[in-house]
Amino acid sequence: MANNIVVLGAGVSGLTTAYLLSQDPANKITVLAKHMPGDYDIEYASPWAGANYMPVGKEGSAHQKWERDTWPVLKEIADKYPEAGIHFRGSFIYNRKKDQGSETGRSFSELVQPNPWYKDVVLDFKSVPSDQLLPGINNGQEFTSVCINTAIYLPWLVGQCLKNGAVFKRAVFKHIADAANAHHTGQKADVVVNCTGLSSKTLGGVLDDKMYPARGQIVVVRNDPGPMMSTSGTDDGEDELLYIMTRAAGGGTILGGSYQKNNWDAIPDMNLANRIMKRCIEVCPNLVKKGQGIEGLDIVRHGVGLRPLREGGTRIEKDKVGGVAIVHNYGHGGFGYQASFGCSYSAVSLVNEILQNKSRAKL
Ligand code: FAD
Repeated sequence: MANNIVVLGAGVSGLTTAYLLSQDPANKITVLAKHMPGDYDIEYASPWAGANYMPVGKEGSAHQKWERDTWPVLKEIADKYPEAGIHFRGSFIYNRKKDQGSETGRSFSELVQPNPWYKDVVLDFKSVPSDQLLPGINNGQEFTSVCINTAIYLPWLVGQCLKNGAVFKRAVFKHIADAANAHHTGQKADVVVNCTGLSSKTLGGVLDDKMYPARGQIVVVRNDPGPMMSTSGTDDGEDELLYIMTRAAGGGTILGGSYQKNNWDAIPDMNLANRIMKRCIEVCPNLVKKGQGIEGLDIVRHGVGLRPLREGGTRIEKDKVGGVAIVHNYGHGGFGYQASFGCSYSAVSLVNEILQNKSRAKL
C-alpha cells in the first residue's frame, strides 16, 4: 500500500527528510515549497549558510545526538560523492576566555572548549600548541571537518529525491493543513512534514511564537586562505562573529559574520561588512597578499540570512491539525546542516509511527 507524504519546505531540513523518506519505494513524496534551490531570499536560510560542521550541542542533549548522527553521513558523502559539493577541510577553533560570559560565547561554549565530546567524532583532533596561539587566544584546537557548497549540495539532494521518484512543486500555503490536499496523486496526504523553518512563526495551524531570527551577515570572496577558522567572539560586539570557510568546488570563501537576535533586516550593513573583512584578515593574514588590507579581498557578493532559532530548541514532534497528521522538523538555528541527518532520522521515525498506525487502522 502506498504512503502519500507531503514535505513542506525545500531547505536543507525538508530536502534531507524527503531524501531519507524517498529511499522507501512505498512512500510517494511531494515536496512543496515557496523557495527552491537556486533561489536567494531572506525567507530561505539554507543557501546562505557557510556551511560547515562545527558542533555546538551540549553533551547529553538531543542536539548532541543529532550532530553526532549527522557526521558519518556527511563524511560518507564527502568521501564517495564529489558531485555533492562537500569537501574535507582543516579547521582551527580559537577560544578567548573573555568571551565566556557573552551570549555568543555561551552559544559556542561546547565548540571552543579544550576537551569537547566531538573530538572522537571529527578527524585528526588535536590541541594547538600554546606557543602557536595569537595574543589574546587562551586555547585552540585543530581538526578535519567538512565544508559544504550549498549551491551544489541542495540541488544534489533534489537530484537524489527525483531519482527516487519524489515530485517537486512550487506552492505557498497560509495554513499547514492545506498542504495535505496538494499531493501530486490528487489524493489526500497521510502525513505532512513541516520543514518551513522561520516561517513556522506565521504559518497558520503552527503559529509558533517561540521562533525568532538570528541574523547572519556574510561576505563571499574569491580569496582562498586554506583551512577554516573560527573564534569564540570578537571585540566588535557580542552579536558579531568571526569565521572563515572555503566551500568545495569553486564556491568561494565565506567570511562571517554576525548573530543578531530578533534582527530581520535583509539588507547587508556595509559598516558591519567592513568590520567582518578587517577582523578576518587580522586573524588570517593569508587571506590577502602580504601588506594588503581589505582592498586585497576579491568580493563575489555580500549576503544576509536569518537563522531559524527557537526558544526551547528544535521542534521534532507529531501533531494533528484540522484532522491532518503532521510531523514538525523546524527551528534548527545555526546548525541546520551539521544536524540535518540526525534531525531527519528522528522526523522519519515519527512519520513511520503515523504510517504504521494508519496500516493498523485499515486491517
Ligand atoms: P529554510 O532553509 O529557511 O527553508 C524553509 C523552506 O520552507 C523554504 O523552501 C521555504 O520556501 C519553505 N516555506 C516556508 N513557509 C512556507 C509556506 N508557507 N508555504 C510554502 N513553503 C514555505 N548551519 C550549519 O549547520 N552550518 C553552518 O555553517 C551554518 N552557517 C550558517 C550561516 C548563516 C549566515 C546562516 C543564515 C545560517 C547558517 N546555518 C548553518 C544554519 C542553517 O542555514 C539553517 O539552520 C538551515 O538552513 C535551516 O534550514 P530549513 O530547511 O529548516 O529552513
